[in-house]
Amino acid sequence: MIRGKVTIAEEICKGCELCITACPQESLGLSDKINLKGYRYAVLIQDNCTGCINCALVCPDAAITVYRQKKPVKGVGPQVQIAA
Ligand code: SF4
Ligand code: SF4
Repeated sequence: MIRGKVTIAEEICKGCELCITACPQESLGLSDKINLKGYRYAVLIQDNCTGCINCALVCPDAAITVYRQKKPVKGVGPQVQIAA
């Protein structure tokens, strides 16, 4: 299973909400705070990002970076092949 994480450059963000609309996980929302440009900026509001990169693709200001990593599955150890 893939787990994702995003970082958002809050000072670049202009709060257009395109990334929020594009996220299938509803992981993103607008901050209550404003940045130096006077915009409420996008933030991660849930820890359920899958790293699909939709948000980064739609951001007109390239403010989002997506990181992806494999999430370990509980109870499943490394797969071992045994010769017959
Ligand atoms: S990478 Fe995908 S799941 Fe994660 S915040 Fe962006 S749109 Fe949502
Ligand atoms: S799409 Fe980009 S500029 Fe628009 S709210 Fe999201 S991070 Fe900010």
